Amino acid sequence: MSSKVNPFEIAQHQLDDAAKILGLSPAMHAFLREPMRELHFTIPVQMDDGSYQTFQGFRVQYNDARGPAKGGIRFHPDETIDTVRALSAWMTWKTAVVDIPLGGGKGGVVCDPHSLSQTELERLSRGYMRRVAYFIGAEKDVPAPDVYTTPQIMTWMLDEYETIMGRHVPGVITGKPVPMFGSLGRGDATARGGLYTVREAAKVLGCDLMGAPVAVQGFGNVGGWAARLGYDMGMKIVAVSDVSGGLHNPNGLNIPAISAHAERHPKKLIEGYREDGATAITNNELLELPVLVLVPAALENVITAENADRIKGKIIAELANGPTTPEADEILFKKGAYVIPDFLCNAGGVTVSYFEQVQNAYNFYWPLEEVQARLEEKMTTAFRAVHEMADLHKTHNRLAAYLVSVKRVADAVATRGWVK
Ligand code: NAD
Repeated sequence: MSSKVNPFEIAQHQLDDAAKILGLSPAMHAFLREPMRELHFTIPVQMDDGSYQTFQGFRVQYNDARGPAKGGIRFHPDETIDTVRALSAWMTWKTAVVDIPLGGGKGGVVCDPHSLSQTELERLSRGYMRRVAYFIGAEKDVPAPDVYTTPQIMTWMLDEYETIMGRHVPGVITGKPVPMFGSLGRGDATARGGLYTVREAAKVLGCDLMGAPVAVQGFGNVGGWAARLGYDMGMKIVAVSDVSGGLHNPNGLNIPAISAHAERHPKKLIEGYREDGATAITNNELLELPVLVLVPAALENVITAENADRIKGKIIAELANGPTTPEADEILFKKGAYVIPDFLCNAGGVTVSYFEQVQNAYNFYWPLEEVQARLEEKMTTAFRAVHEMADLHKTHNRLAAYLVSVKRVADAVATRGWVK
């Protein structure tokens, strides 16, 4: 997202469109346009050379009418309070669309984690938790990893929280390593959940996914898994890419071999991989290939008013956050592309985070098959709710997803009697 665009203003405009169609009262609309609570704080950290640095931190609880706030913590040099507010709003709509009993939140620290040593990162992570420990909680607000934060950081934060509280509370944070009370199936959950929605989209469109051409932009956690799982499901993955460029083979790429290559690459890239029949392709060319399914799984704002007309994918599965601009949305809708919007398509990650919390609460851990079966049920049901809403209002799926989510949150707020 360009630095000139205020992401929180975008989030508010998206809500405004849904509020109009739903006929929300002015009071309800005004309430849902703002976060319920914010904590702004400073974190002093002693650096390895003995000097001190002070970092700026935030935690925003956007809305908790449907359950404890839920959302990641980012460590990023460009973090701003408005980014955190926007992301916490989107988490509110994401947990509502998959109908899990959680609200939306987000946190952040303005820092460049790549310039910090492991010991400095640990002190910063523990310092963050000391600031928010009494603001969050397993029954109030549950953080998770996000950009540049990891399962190791979650473990330091959990340890600090339990030290402060003097008791064992693994459900206060999710995205933990499996041996530290994490859930099986979290690693590929976002991609797997997205592919369940692609399967449902293919059903309603009457398309066969077996052997169908698919292009995946981004070969990281989400895109790499999407390509591998799609390949295992029998799709023909004709193109993949990452920050180093892309590969195209109209007869289908050997995804297990590319994954093994990326695994060995020092920066986990597909760079340097060769196979017969595969040629180099740019990230922009990949987006315009004649495929049945296009999976943007890297960056935001890659499908714009400039290239939307040339996009040939019938199903656009937005595993990345915000890959399509609002102008491009309208163009894609008019030309009949079926967009599975980001906060539905990539909700598999938060859904399995919720399963992690449930397992922590029971102190009883599910086998992988159970996690995946429950994920499938959640994603399929959410897909149908959005598809039916789009049909009802003759609109595109993104607005339909907002209509489903905003209505659920507004109903909870009204039933509690906060605002009518
Ligand atoms: P990641 O860092 O593991 O992978 C990102 C991928 O994008 C890498 O392959 C990288 O090389 C590629 N990339 C970076 N810059 C690029 C460029 N200029 N052109 C093309 N490719 C580029 O991140 P991830 O966890 O896979 O997240 C990808 C997207 O999915 C993000 O938008 C993220 O917000 C979203 N998402 C992730 C999760 C999750 O569970 N990880 C959940 C919901 C949404």
